[in-house]
Amino acid sequence: MNITRRGFLTLSGAVGGGIALTGLGLNLNPARAYADELNKMNRVKVAKQSTTICCYCSCGCGLICSTDKTTNKIINIEGDAEHPINEGALCAKGSGFFQMTEANEHRLRKVLYRAPGGDKWEEKDWEWALPRMARLIKETRDKNFIKTNAKGELVNRCEAIGHYGSSNVDNEECWLITVMSRALGIVYMDHQARVCHSPSVGALAESFGRGSMTNHYIDMKNADVILIMGSNMAENHPMGFRWVTKAQEKGAKVIHVDPRYTRTSARCDFHVPLRSGTDIAFLGGMINYIIEKKKYFKEYVLNYTHASFIVSKDFSFRDGLFSGYDAAKRKYNKETWGFDYDANGIPQRDMTLTNPRCVFQLMKKHYSRYTLDKVSSVTGVSKENLLKVYEVYSSTGVPDKAGTECYALGWTQHTVGVENIRAMTLVQMLLGNVGIAGGGINAMRGEPNVQGSTDQAILYHILPGYMKQPSASLDTLEKYLKKYTPVSKDPQSANYYQNYPKFFISLMKAFFNDKAIKENGFGYNWLPKIDDGKHYSTMHMFDQMYKGKIKGFFCIGADNAVSSPNTGKVRKGLEKLDWLIGENIFDNETYQFWRAPGVDTKNIKTEVFLLPASASMEKEGSISNSGRMVQWKQKACDGPDQCIPVGEITIKIMKAVKELYAKEGGVHTEPILNLYWNYLDKQGHFDALEVAKQMNGRFLKDTVIEDKVKKTTTLYKKGQCVPGFGNLRDDGSTCSGNWVHCGQFGADGENKMAKRGKDDPTGLGLYPNWSFVWPINRRILYNRCSVDLNGKPYNPKRNILEWKDDKWEGDVPDGPWPPMADKAKGKYPFIMQRDGLGAFFGQNMADGPFPEHYEPLEGPLAKNPMSGQLINPAIEIFNSDMDKIARASGKFPYVCTTYSCTEHWCSGALTRWQSWLLEAQPEEYIEIGDKLAEEKGIKNGDKVKVSSVRGAVTSCVAMVTQRLKPFTIEGKTVHQVGMPFNYGWLFPKDTKDDSTNFLTPTVGDANTFCPEYKAFMVNVEKA
Ligand code: SF4
Repeated sequence: MNITRRGFLTLSGAVGGGIALTGLGLNLNPARAYADELNKMNRVKVAKQSTTICCYCSCGCGLICSTDKTTNKIINIEGDAEHPINEGALCAKGSGFFQMTEANEHRLRKVLYRAPGGDKWEEKDWEWALPRMARLIKETRDKNFIKTNAKGELVNRCEAIGHYGSSNVDNEECWLITVMSRALGIVYMDHQARVCHSPSVGALAESFGRGSMTNHYIDMKNADVILIMGSNMAENHPMGFRWVTKAQEKGAKVIHVDPRYTRTSARCDFHVPLRSGTDIAFLGGMINYIIEKKKYFKEYVLNYTHASFIVSKDFSFRDGLFSGYDAAKRKYNKETWGFDYDANGIPQRDMTLTNPRCVFQLMKKHYSRYTLDKVSSVTGVSKENLLKVYEVYSSTGVPDKAGTECYALGWTQHTVGVENIRAMTLVQMLLGNVGIAGGGINAMRGEPNVQGSTDQAILYHILPGYMKQPSASLDTLEKYLKKYTPVSKDPQSANYYQNYPKFFISLMKAFFNDKAIKENGFGYNWLPKIDDGKHYSTMHMFDQMYKGKIKGFFCIGADNAVSSPNTGKVRKGLEKLDWLIGENIFDNETYQFWRAPGVDTKNIKTEVFLLPASASMEKEGSISNSGRMVQWKQKACDGPDQCIPVGEITIKIMKAVKELYAKEGGVHTEPILNLYWNYLDKQGHFDALEVAKQMNGRFLKDTVIEDKVKKTTTLYKKGQCVPGFGNLRDDGSTCSGNWVHCGQFGADGENKMAKRGKDDPTGLGLYPNWSFVWPINRRILYNRCSVDLNGKPYNPKRNILEWKDDKWEGDVPDGPWPPMADKAKGKYPFIMQRDGLGAFFGQNMADGPFPEHYEPLEGPLAKNPMSGQLINPAIEIFNSDMDKIARASGKFPYVCTTYSCTEHWCSGALTRWQSWLLEAQPEEYIEIGDKLAEEKGIKNGDKVKVSSVRGAVTSCVAMVTQRLKPFTIEGKTVHQVGMPFNYGWLFPKDTKDDSTNFLTPTVGDANTFCPEYKAFMVNVEKA
């Protein structure tokens, strides 16, 4: 890549500014000096440049690597000034990217092996490790394979092998992991998305049809009001936060609602503290305010949502419980949550919104209970502050204003995580803020490829592209497709998932190629099936491991011994494994569980393999940021010594397993032997482009496609890439490993993920020619909501889409059909919903169709002020001897919440090994409000012990602060403390700290099992 002197100065300037968080990339002077120094050293002349994407948070910032042409070593990494998101700036982690290269002495370089009972790592090589791992995998699988379940249903699965990770590897690697795991029959498979943003998918898909962030980071500059709630965005998504400050510079109001006063609060117009775990009460009050004060955007609510639908007469809500609750099962029977249909099978509607059984009236009634007094008493927020937020935010409920919301783990990591987000979807639909520039709900993921790893479905409950995981009762392909292919009788509903069979059969062809044929159901029964109603999430996996049921475990790019809840239980589970395969760029506490504090290594029989992986910039491939932007990374150099990409490790392990089965036979060999697995290049290395094309999809025979809009026909030859998912077929003539990625290559093979066009025709930051955004390069989802029934923009100043001269102009429209006023051809805007409309009433939720406030599993109150149900009645209660609970107890009187800091990433498993970052945040600490510290006699810098009923962190530093204020809850004073979750015992070496997750409970959201890391009870005392 060529960099001009001017471009280089801009680029380097941005880097210099990026080092200081507060500068946010605006000060060029220090960097000019830095650029001059580099030029003097002639570094640029001897280096080749390659572009890559940051591998920490989900902002998707671009970086440029300079690699010495003679040594093939990276000599410099800096922000990419051309990149539209970060414009050359980087946060502390991105600025320290160089310390992840082979220059870091702590990088893994060799295959490491720990023998049963051993007390050290032994250096090995791939030739030794691959056959040994394949042998263990085969033995465990064959010995423990489950052909049929207790009911006699065919399930073809192996519950004795677990797989975790990873959302910090590339899309192509995630896809290979997902395919390999399915072929082996693994069902205990999960990754970081489960414990961070699984509720985002559950909530956003229910309300809008897709589980993704609706808009994108740059779009935040278009908002009039920005509500940051459930996130410390300035510290955890710093380059995304730049776009918030840009909106603020243009006059937008920025509000931060969070238990702590943070750097985000400092940059906002006002900060409002609330008690952890009370977000639904806060938002319920806002919904009540919007409806009572008639602040909603009526035309939008009427036409684009199902507010007018009539709910079954049998539906009810009493004292915290919706109709259909079964207390013994802790589950709802949702039969009474249906809609009334007319004789043609179309939902009945009341367009006056006055019928007491219409969704709007039921919602109004439900939230009328969330009065200012009640909400203030539950949340600890003053009535003045509540009104201030409600007034400012609801001012966006008009056509020419936009309000957006930014959240992260502060909303997801609760027993009501999905319903927290759902509550905001209700607010946004009432105000008409979905599908518009500067609007939407922004799920900001904490890992670089949570979006992609979720899209590729390293998850037990879905297959790539959000296809459903087959379950035991669906014993034929026909039954499976019938269940998951929705039918709508309403001619104005696009009901896009009616194409489900095309996506699913193309997926099977990508798995098994020509072995998947109609006669064998395209290989449907080769896939493992989960039991109906049973769950296999992270917490379930470690529960089973603790019970000794899981024998082998893959831990890829993760550190469960620090990051998983109730880690005392997790570590005991790891001790029961026969084998563990780890893949990473640094060692961590999970891979060395056998010599953790208090563990007698002689008694641990586990064989452990630690495989050295290439770092992000040492391999080619794509990752997807939170805005669904799928960006292609160039390879800067090879990884050091024996390091190879996770994709190559995956291919080689599975290849060795295939060879064993081919030679020896075994149990249920079809998915292994029939698996299409030709993804190594001619030199025997990982071919990321080849995998990416398989994910995109190809024509498997010459095919003529007619374009009815353009009135053309095109002949596509066998082997050409399918140019978009509208061309996929259900007859086996196309393959596509993930239909949402279909279109990332042109039919001519153009890699659209690598595009770097900087044109921005709307001026709204869509950058249509920068990389590829799924689906089909659409930058803002549900964008047909931004226009009126005739296709005219509601806000001409922020015009992302317009129907002109019988066609759409602007962003790629959410479906090609004309606007809704055309009754013959026009469609509703939420095309992935069966009924085509935004859903206030969540018929598929495990814990109720309207979000309702429940207390956390552990909280300071003995009674829920909102109802007779103290905790979420639909959550699963784990009951091993290590799943203790203490609520409203004198012994553990303080609410604790956990979080990350700018300089560290997740468990700290990458960042603790980097001296620049570690120096800035060297050790575990606890934030304690000054009033509580005074009561406890704790001074700033004292060592303190923090304990919960499950365990303790025995030596962390007290940070006494005014940033945490006590709350008045139901007339009582409640103190809250906060701890980062970035530390463990392994490194830095002299640390006495260990994971914060010794304190957290094994409990999760009722819908998606995201753990409740954000609200539990502890005690704090001087160490
Ligand atoms: S951590 Fe996030 S904000 Fe920081 S440089 Fe990386 S992608 Fe950008």
